[in-house]
Amino acid sequence: MLPQEIVRKKRDGQTLTPEEIAFFVRGLADETITEGQVAAFAMAVFFKGLTVEERVGLTLGMRDSGDVLDWSDVDAPVLDKHSTGGVGDNVSLMLAPALAACGAAVPMISGRGLGHTGGTLDKFDSIPGYKTQPDNTLFKKVVKEVGCAIIGQTGNLAPADKRFYGIRDVTATVESIDLITASILSKKLAAGLEGLVLDVKWGTGAFMAKLEDARALAQSLVLVANGAGLKTTAILTDMNEPLASAAGNAIEVQNAVDFLKGTAIDSRLWDVTVAQGGELLATGGLAENGADGEAKMRDAFESGKAAEIFAKMVTALGGPADFMEKSELYLAKAPIEAPIYADMDGIVTGVDARQVGLAVVALGGGRTFAAQKIDPAVGLTNLAGLGNSVDSDAPLAIVHAQTQDQVEEASRMVRAAYRIGDARDVPDYPAVVERIAS
Ligand code: URA
Repeated sequence: MLPQEIVRKKRDGQTLTPEEIAFFVRGLADETITEGQVAAFAMAVFFKGLTVEERVGLTLGMRDSGDVLDWSDVDAPVLDKHSTGGVGDNVSLMLAPALAACGAAVPMISGRGLGHTGGTLDKFDSIPGYKTQPDNTLFKKVVKEVGCAIIGQTGNLAPADKRFYGIRDVTATVESIDLITASILSKKLAAGLEGLVLDVKWGTGAFMAKLEDARALAQSLVLVANGAGLKTTAILTDMNEPLASAAGNAIEVQNAVDFLKGTAIDSRLWDVTVAQGGELLATGGLAENGADGEAKMRDAFESGKAAEIFAKMVTALGGPADFMEKSELYLAKAPIEAPIYADMDGIVTGVDARQVGLAVVALGGGRTFAAQKIDPAVGLTNLAGLGNSVDSDAPLAIVHAQTQDQVEEASRMVRAAYRIGDARDVPDYPAVVERIAS
């Protein structure tokens, strides 16, 4: 088989055989297919697409290009989520311990932030001592003993995807829904899961700005995941404003601690977390259906069990034993806190959530290139939501910064991100739009 024949066939819109897909993935992994050929293949797929069977073949091939985790010695359904990313999206911090409280095993392999969206691992890096890169033995021990562990990628999961993504990233081919599907799912399948929920976001701060594009991605992910043998549903959720009222790293950890302790709960964050958990508990056979799963999630939070498990996970992975009680002492704090006021009094009628995320990046709380160090202390709290009143007493947000220059830059960006107007113009975006099961 010749790589260029596979590229030609796809370029001409033909369907590849399972053997051709397998040959391509092998060459991707062992680098016998050149970067130019991989790039040409990606561009051919971008324009001509892949059938569901081709996407399943590519996903499974990339899964098998490295380690596949084995949880056969764990006596609980092994569940996880994937979010397409957003601003103020700290759902994982509450979701994993709540699922564990309901009887699931949750080996949550998360990533770092790049661009305007935050990364779960960066949030955990702000907890002193917490090991985001434990060895496999500790990872497995914590999942077995505590019920959940949120960590960064260990070992060698889906290396073919790593090479493919790197080439797509520099050839303007990341945006292919078919390639995104195979990329996301190959890593989730390599994590050895039995059930998955996908949180596919739409809106100003989402990877997919348009609802119909988010729906198409969710449908592709659900079809291919189930076709590859992983029980999966998706929910479409709103990212037309930050999900939590906080965006940053230590800042979002504190927001999650407040949520788990029940001292301050952002309502849209609650809705999305409970919905994801309800779906997963039903998928894993731990609830009769989504509604029953949601009731179990609410109980996990209200009983304090999720908070207890979060505390145990933090300690088991090297963090402080009294983190939940003393989080404010452990989490880095920026020296300056300043309110950002809107240019006029009124009601929030629009938020460019992407710009809010970029304001956090400008403060030093996010990255513009992969190796950049981030500042855990900076960010935004008390973010006003759609429909909130803002005036000289009620700011758009409070900025947490290291310098006065940062305060000014972030304030300018946040003001530009908000549209202020009249109550009649507030759009009604439900936090959870719809569920996609096939
Ligand atoms: N996230 C991934 O893991 N892969 C993609 O292709 C896009 C987003």
